[in-house]
This record gives sequence, structure tokens and C-alpha cells, in this order.
Amino acid sequence: MGAFATQDIKRGKRILADIPLLTIPKARYFNVDIKEAFAKLSPEDKKRYFELHSAHGQSTSNWPQSIHPNISLSERVRIEEQHDARTDKEASLMSIFQTNCMEMEQGAAVFYEAARFNHSCNANAFFSWNARIDKETIHATMDIKVGEEITLCYCDPHHDTALRRWELKHYGFECGCPACEDSSDPDSFAAISAQRRYRLRELDDVMSGIRSRNLNSPASPSEPLLTCLLEMAALQLNEGLWTAELAHTYLDIAIICEAKGDLDNALSAARKALQVTFDCRGPDCEDIRYYISAVRRVKQSMNALNSGGD
Ligand SMILES: [Zn+2]
Repeated sequence: MGAFATQDIKRGKRILADIPLLTIPKARYFNVDIKEAFAKLSPEDKKRYFELHSAHGQSTSNWPQSIHPNISLSERVRIEEQHDARTDKEASLMSIFQTNCMEMEQGAAVFYEAARFNHSCNANAFFSWNARIDKETIHATMDIKVGEEITLCYCDPHHDTALRRWELKHYGFECGCPACEDSSDPDSFAAISAQRRYRLRELDDVMSGIRSRNLNSPASPSEPLLTCLLEMAALQLNEGLWTAELAHTYLDIAIICEAKGDLDNALSAARKALQVTFDCRGPDCEDIRYYISAVRRVKQSMNALNSGGD
């Protein structure tokens, strides 16, 4: 099962706003938490829950066979419960939750319709929890043609193919998207995508290094960070990652340009950050105010400069 476009969809279009079917409002959950939440569901919702896909029945040899002795008892119980759910012969409350849950502000929830969207490492839609309307939203991040499958990225798109494969094993499948295809031909999309993602990871590391150095000596220049951010934005754009991460990158660029007094570029980057957020999370998402206020602040600085300077 999956979700397919029944009409052409423009980037930024909200495709779905779905209410939770079953919510677990904490990050570390156990079987008992899911059982308690499930017991409160209506008979109709209980039936719907068991209609969802479950990634049980996996081989135990696919997973680590032992737990490190330093792991606490409660964490050990949690790991064992999750391992059992993946390798059991039948679907369970836990296996369905693991396969379908999406993160919320606090904890995670299963959504009956949002859960039906399949994965691609080059997804054309973005999912995020909207706390203002208490719904999981899905927005098109590319123009989607009628008949095309609408996909979401379940893993960190900056990760390399091997790490993505490991992350996706939790959902019980091997990804066959264009980024995961055979990359032995250096001109193939998979090979070019792998290079871009490798560089994105490198830049993530370089930037966290620069940021921690800047915290220790705030006077150090922001120029290397800006260079990294500009390269990151270009890579994210070329890889088609029109997501909240790209919005963060643009906002960081805006803040650095603003601090340097380069207000034209600050405004342009802040506007891009706002546009991407608008497209992938919607105008009613909670964080939109940060992006709007960045645009306003830069505009005010420009106005002050224009009216004050002669
Ligand atoms: Zn893939």
C-alpha cells in the first residue's frame, strides 16, 4: 500500500492533516504504555490499528545478540521488548507501533492515513507534527505529477547508504529508491547522490566543530561557518531536500549575514528560510514565527539604515 497523487500537486501543498490514532506521550515507551493507550481506543480504532503494516517476523541474526552489561535494567527491558516485537511470528501492539509511529513534540503517535505513505531517500513530501492544530501534516516538497507515488523520508537524509539501510531495517524493508540503487557507475544518480550526502555529513561535522570553537572564543570569525552553510544549502537543494533542515541552513546564513552587516543577503536568506518552512510545514506551524521575525528584523534594520544614513 502507498499514497499516489490523483492530480498534479504543487510544492507547498498540504496533502494531509491527520489526527493521531494512538499516542504515547513519552520518548521511552514500553509494552505496558502501548497496552494502556490501546485499551482506551474505540472498537473501530482498535480494528484500524491492526490494519496497519507490521515489520515483525525478522530474523534474529539481523540484530545484535547481546546487550552491553552497563545498560540499566529498565533500558534492557525496553530493548528486549522491541527486539521481541521485531522477531516475533505475529504482529503485536509493539510491532505496529514501531513500524508506524511518528515523532511528536513529546513522544510519538501512530496515524492511520499518514502511516500509509512509503519511504524514499529522495522523498517528494515532508511530514511533521503541527502542535497548533494537533495534527500530523504532510506537504509536497516537489511538484508531483498525477499518478506519481508520494513518499516521505523515514531516516536522516544526510546519512550514507549503509547507515540509511541500517535505520530502515527497523521498518523491515530494504530501500530501492534512486539514491540506494547500484552506484558503481560514477555518473549514476546513486553515485552523485552518495557524494553529496558524504559531503553533507562532513559539513555537519565541520560546522559542529566551528560552533563549539566559537562558543569558547566568541570573537572568532563567522566566515568559515558561512562558507560551510552556503555549500550545505547548495547540496541540500541539488539533492532535492526541500525540508526543515534546509530552512535551518538558510536561517543560519541570514543570521550570520545580518551580524556582518550584509543586510541584502541576510534578507534574501531569511526569505528563503521562510518560504521553505511555509512549503514543508505550512503557514500555521508553530515555528513559522521565528522565520517571520527574522525577515521583519532584517527589514527593520534596512529601514533604520536608509532613514538614518545620509
Ligand atoms: Zn533509498
